[in-house]
Amino acid sequence: MTALIETKDLQRTFSVSAGMFKPRQTLHAVNGVDLSVQRKDVLGIVGESGCGKSTLARMLLGLTPPSRGSVLIDGQDISKIDRRDLARRVQPIFQDPYSSLNPRRTISSIVSFPLDVLGVGTNSERRKKAVEMLERVGLPARYADNTPGQLSGGQRQRVAIARALVINPEIVICDEPTSALDVSVQAQILNLLLDLRKEFNLTYVFISHNLAVVEHIATQVAVMYLGRVVELTKTADLFKHPRHPYTQALLASVLTPEPGLGIPDMGLGLSFPDPLHPPTGCSFHPRCQQRRPECSVEHPHLLRDAQGDVACHLYPAKKSNT
Ligand code: SF4
Ligand code: MG
Repeated sequence: MTALIETKDLQRTFSVSAGMFKPRQTLHAVNGVDLSVQRKDVLGIVGESGCGKSTLARMLLGLTPPSRGSVLIDGQDISKIDRRDLARRVQPIFQDPYSSLNPRRTISSIVSFPLDVLGVGTNSERRKKAVEMLERVGLPARYADNTPGQLSGGQRQRVAIARALVINPEIVICDEPTSALDVSVQAQILNLLLDLRKEFNLTYVFISHNLAVVEHIATQVAVMYLGRVVELTKTADLFKHPRHPYTQALLASVLTPEPGLGIPDMGLGLSFPDPLHPPTGCSFHPRCQQRRPECSVEHPHLLRDAQGDVACHLYPAKKSNT
């Protein structure tokens, strides 16, 4: 069965300034990512900030072109899909409902905007559809003539969801959609997204640095580190039996006072490496407590076995010489 979303050796580099009088350097934001998402699945993507999650999201939306590799929707390269068709099929929900909504427009005109762009229906039909969608996401019709400034953070994110769904897309790319919200509101928005997925047969890619959120919503999870996927497996398996030492460390960090904010201190006192100068071999090796001599030299490829995909020299278990 053709996957609904597929990425093949997806890469994106940026040329960045390294300082005055120094040559520009190449940042590998996303580095050889192969993903495959079946219809109605929810692929969670987790990792610390700077690991390439948002760049990946922008490539899935066709907003950032890849430097190499491709994104396929239903087997078709998105660079070859007409922009309007792509917008019909793939919609975003971004993190910050404060900056992603135009403060001067009314809620109904914000929600109906994709219909305006695609020229669907008359003005009054578009407004009616926008109001119906607002009600579906839990915002009474009386909010239609308000502006975003009159709404709470959770209400604004409901507006962003209504706007994404008003043209009936197949895929929604959610980039940290609950991270700016209070914890109590986060759960409501997550449950709303789950209900909408069922009702509208949606497929989600759900990006978050918060593992608890991903565990709640995703059917499979990709863990990213420095632009690469280091583990990819079914959600229940990942949380029960994390295999990559980085996944294990991320899960352990959930038990710290600031859950989900990355690895506090793995006993190495080392923070996230400079993406411009990634470590050699396995890029996680300076922070890895299970590293072996080959880890600083050999890059571990993402390999599949019965339990999922993992990129680590510990798998498949090698024969020990000692
Ligand atoms: Fe640790 Fe080596 Fe596995 Fe990298 S390849 S995660 S350094 S054990
Ligand atoms: Mg981000």
